[in-house]
Amino acid sequence: MSFASLGLIDRLLRNVQDLHYQTPTPVQVKAIPAVLGGKDVMAAAQTGTGKTAGFALPLLQRLVQHGPAVSSNRVRVLVLVPTRELAEQVLQSFVVYGKGLDLRFLAAYGGVSINPQMMKLRKGVDVLVATPGRLLDLNRQNAVQFDQVQTLVLDEADRMLDLGFARELNAVFAALPAQRQTLLFSATFSDDIRAMAANFLRGPVHISVSPPNATASKIRQWVVPVDKRNKPDLFMHLVAENNWDHALVFVKTRTGVDYLAAMLDEAGYAVDTIHGDKPQPARLRALERFKAGQVHMLVATDVAARGLDIDHLPLVINVDLPIVAQDYVHRIGRTGRAGASGVAVSLVCADEAPQLAAIEALIRQTLPREEEPGFEAEHRVPQTSATGQIIKKPKKPKKPKGLQAAPGDMHLPGKKTRPKSGESNRKPAAQRDAAAGKETSVTSGSPFSVQRPRSKPARQPVAAARQPAGKGAGGRGKRQP
Ligand code: AMP
Repeated sequence: MSFASLGLIDRLLRNVQDLHYQTPTPVQVKAIPAVLGGKDVMAAAQTGTGKTAGFALPLLQRLVQHGPAVSSNRVRVLVLVPTRELAEQVLQSFVVYGKGLDLRFLAAYGGVSINPQMMKLRKGVDVLVATPGRLLDLNRQNAVQFDQVQTLVLDEADRMLDLGFARELNAVFAALPAQRQTLLFSATFSDDIRAMAANFLRGPVHISVSPPNATASKIRQWVVPVDKRNKPDLFMHLVAENNWDHALVFVKTRTGVDYLAAMLDEAGYAVDTIHGDKPQPARLRALERFKAGQVHMLVATDVAARGLDIDHLPLVINVDLPIVAQDYVHRIGRTGRAGASGVAVSLVCADEAPQLAAIEALIRQTLPREEEPGFEAEHRVPQTSATGQIIKKPKKPKKPKGLQAAPGDMHLPGKKTRPKSGESNRKPAAQRDAAAGKETSVTSGSPFSVQRPRSKPARQPVAAARQPAGKGAGGRGKRQP
């Protein structure tokens, strides 16, 4: 199958050739003819499948071939995305794929001044890539009107719902012309997404390039059980031991991001961070430096890092598991792209058992556990079944009276209130915050709530673990991605 056989015009074929794309990806094979034909599309496709070109190329062609020039404060193609970073990336894709087509593109998102966006909209734009909140702000201020919209694209629709944009999406749907094309792309398909599709898409072409809710098969994934307090040291140990020197690292809290980044920096790694406290330009700069190879380790909260398009990323390290299971699929979707193989390793403590169970149920597989010698968890991470059940171990016999607790127990924050394995210690509010895209700062019991881990792991000296990659004495070179 070639791009030419999909019915694309010469200019677009040349642009694709310049990018050295040899053959269309499966989602492109199915989406491009459907979109060119004016059909609605509902596609189960995660980041890394080539979905952006799957909708951008045919929409660019339709813009060139159909319809009048865009008027002042009007838009012809509207792409809604969950995050600012994704807005910039999708915009860049349109710019690159649409080179030489004389079309106007704009990305509009919050967190930066609205005035330059309003100025650019005055002339009208052919493609507006926007986050829902900022789009409605612009609409309220009459900077953008929707009567010329011919196509609406919902990119990462599941993330938009997870981030609490349902109301904004409904407001946008209500304001758009009824006669339009609608394309919905989502990595996962919840009942809410299906309901939205049923309400707002007309006879869509269904595309599924990987089983819904499955993670890419070329990604080698495993879990390292560890006590919470030992996570930072285990992380540094794994990085040094395996010579991992190019990774995207996910941590739950902003404090945790800064903490790990400081450890990596101290150990001589080129590191940068992405989290909600950073201004937007600084986040984009960090991403660009990471993509350009100037920064080797990018430490991020997933709220800030959703949907980032990073090519050829060999490794994702989850120092904390996401609270929302779908985020796991999104996180590791950044590795193993375009046919490349990838590695995703998750450091999991006993408190995270419910999240692990939910993830395994979602991806329909039990992730292999691989304990790291010297970091064996005193607080066991229970096994789970692929249906998401936590398999409870038979109860241990009671300790005889007067016996002291194990030494490690004394250091565990919040020990008295720690739930039994299988119960969640997270408040519903924390789950809601995570779903709404809010980052938490330090939470009690976080391994990052102390200056430095108070107890070193039994057999692995921290100093050795912090040797930079390649310089460490004990680099076994295993698990090289
Ligand atoms: P996406 O899923 O749209 O985020 O795309 C993931 C990555 O795949 C992007 O960096 C694209 O540049 C790349 N890509 C898209 N289509 C192709 C293709 N047909 N051949 C090779 N790479 C592609």
